[in-house]
Amino acid sequence: MKPTCFNKLPAPWRCGASGPKLSWSLTVANKPFVVALEVPRVKLHLEDIVPIARKLADRLMVASIRASGCKIACKRKCDACCHYLVPLSAPEAMELWHNMCQLPDEKRKGFLEACVSASRKVLDNHDSMPQSLSELSKWYSALHLPCPLLSHRLCGVYSFRPISCREHVVAAGNRCRIDGISAKGLIRPPYRVGEALAQLSAELQPSWPKAIMLPLGPAWAAEASAAPRRRFPAEELLNRLFEALQAQQNQQVAKTACA
Ligand code: SF4
Repeated sequence: MKPTCFNKLPAPWRCGASGPKLSWSLTVANKPFVVALEVPRVKLHLEDIVPIARKLADRLMVASIRASGCKIACKRKCDACCHYLVPLSAPEAMELWHNMCQLPDEKRKGFLEACVSASRKVLDNHDSMPQSLSELSKWYSALHLPCPLLSHRLCGVYSFRPISCREHVVAAGNRCRIDGISAKGLIRPPYRVGEALAQLSAELQPSWPKAIMLPLGPAWAAEASAAPRRRFPAEELLNRLFEALQAQQNQQVAKTACA
């Protein structure tokens, strides 16, 4: 099988001396999914791996959609899932923050104000926050909070939107609703790249939170990025990311998603 190659590496990856060409093997719908990458000899912050993780999540999702045989319901100006809880791993929160800092002043200010107001609502309801993830999603939906990065029913950060958003794809024939969609209508990703990133972060930066609700992400990341933090060899970051993915139980592509 032809390996998946990421030709244009993000900026921090282009600074080091060229290194070995490595490859890692995953499985999608019982077929090998091989990723090959020339890894530079460079030390990077943990969040520098996020652009690669995003591309990987996209490609795994495309492979999963193809294998399911489903058409997808997701289309422009459908923002139903932008009212759900979006968990960010800490490296994603950092990278989102770095990208938001590059936005034009007015846009950035608008998003940050929306994040502050959504965070206030989350914190005001903190006492009733449940522990389990499924209950937490319901609790969040009941707050009726549109994503603070939504702009005129479109994602305002589409090119660097979180991995959870990329892994949430609904099969055609299912009706998307702001108050939730049955898991049956979702085309599942074969691997959860965001969770692998969270695991990597727990191992390498244990003082960082395992997950952050999106509205709270920029405030946390602004503070965390001002603190000194370690760099890691690029090869180690990638090897550990793929180890975390390979350790996940490969999810079967759900043929039943198509209605
Ligand atoms: S980041 Fe973008 S895609 Fe994700 S929930 Fe927010 S607006 Fe929607």
